[in-house]
Amino acid sequence: MENQLLIYNTLSRKKEPFIPLYPERVGLYVCGPTVYGDPHLGHARPAITFDILFRYLNHLGYKVRYVRNITDVGHLVNDADAGEDKIAQKARLENLEPMEVVQYYLNRYHRAMDALNVLPPSIEPHASGHIIEQIQLVKEILEKGYAYESEGSVYFDVEKYNREYRYGVLSGRNIDDMLNTTRELEGQDDKRHAVDFALWKKASPEHIMRWPSPWSDGFQGWHLECTAMSKKYLSETFDIHGGGMDLIFPHHECEIAQSVASTGHEAVRYWMHNNMITVNGQKMGKSLGNFINLEEFFTGNHRLLTQAYSPMTIRFFILQAHYRSTVDFSNEALQASGKGLARLLEAYDTIGRIVPQAADPAVSIAELQQKCFEAMNDDLNTPIVIACLFEAARIVHSALAGNISLSAEQLSDLKSLFDLFLFDLSGIKNEAKANNTSYDSFAKAIDMLLQIRQQAKQNKDWATSDKIRNELTALGFDIKDTKDGFEWKLN
Ligand SMILES: [Zn+2]
Repeated sequence: MENQLLIYNTLSRKKEPFIPLYPERVGLYVCGPTVYGDPHLGHARPAITFDILFRYLNHLGYKVRYVRNITDVGHLVNDADAGEDKIAQKARLENLEPMEVVQYYLNRYHRAMDALNVLPPSIEPHASGHIIEQIQLVKEILEKGYAYESEGSVYFDVEKYNREYRYGVLSGRNIDDMLNTTRELEGQDDKRHAVDFALWKKASPEHIMRWPSPWSDGFQGWHLECTAMSKKYLSETFDIHGGGMDLIFPHHECEIAQSVASTGHEAVRYWMHNNMITVNGQKMGKSLGNFINLEEFFTGNHRLLTQAYSPMTIRFFILQAHYRSTVDFSNEALQASGKGLARLLEAYDTIGRIVPQAADPAVSIAELQQKCFEAMNDDLNTPIVIACLFEAARIVHSALAGNISLSAEQLSDLKSLFDLFLFDLSGIKNEAKANNTSYDSFAKAIDMLLQIRQQAKQNKDWATSDKIRNELTALGFDIKDTKDGFEWKLN
């Protein structure tokens, strides 16, 4: 194992050494999407952030059980327990079954995640498939006295809970302030206090998604599913819970209250949150007209986009910022990322063309590798890892230009550095190669033509040498002679 992984725990507000509850095993839970609309950047960022964590924990040798839920019922339009269910609303507007809406957008979410090379989680439980577990959890919280029934609905008694435990530990919010500021909300007449949140809601007659319960025909509160499903698949205490920062309050605060109220202790040992995304410096919002979904990025089909951006450009761009920093999307920044990524992929492809020589003592690939591990261990500092890969690319180019010499071992170490940190851990794939399985044969054929050209040059057969060069150039190839041979790329 390569040194100690430190992760920033939102609960303690500091970086802590990561020590799993059970040696060699890690339980990881991440809040997944509410599937009622097309996946967008707000879905891509947590998925990529926790994909990096998943990949790195696997690399460190842990057996990771990664649970990422699908919210297909219970998430209301108004987060404060009022309004229509987001999925039922979409179903009504589009004249579909709610589960048709769920399946349609879930398929699209999976396709977008595949394109971004996000590994599938180990378990992807649906809220609607765990109503029994959620009803059981409501019963337990009622038995412990931290909830009350009111007109067929069940609410969590935040004020009572706060008297014994502190409500607001994760977000740092003060319950007295909340009691004063949230009093005005509508549609909460059956609650004792405005801060109380629904565990079970009685369904109104027109509400389609409903299940029988001891209290009413209804549906569960939005925060309940994550507590019930993490307990089912990862047990009462587990290692890491992740999600976007926008979920800290109320969602994760409510999850903590539900766990503590039902079992007497916190379920989560490390809380991790990724920061938010802005577009041209502004918060993303449907009303602001800057809401760009992933497919629009991939096709360039949005008035704010000057071109299409490949999924790997989006992924690379997200990884160029630390996950706890904000990321601002703009055409300029994405174009720069696309070029940077192309430079790294080109450097990787070039390694094989460098002729091994005596090792240059000033070049230490081992040091670069050590820096990459230190960065990953420092709360997944991917921007530093990427900076190291750019340094590796610089070494490749200066070897190719004949400014430094590299031994066979150094060349192989350079290749391994890219293989591990760019491909395996950062999850970058060469889309040109992945989309075209014959790419390797194609590249080898060009290499072969250029080797014939080199032989022709050595034999002073200028006619053949010029013919190969001119005709490849006419086809769009950019050919450069170097000290040891040649470089080419297709423009
Ligand atoms: Zn959740």
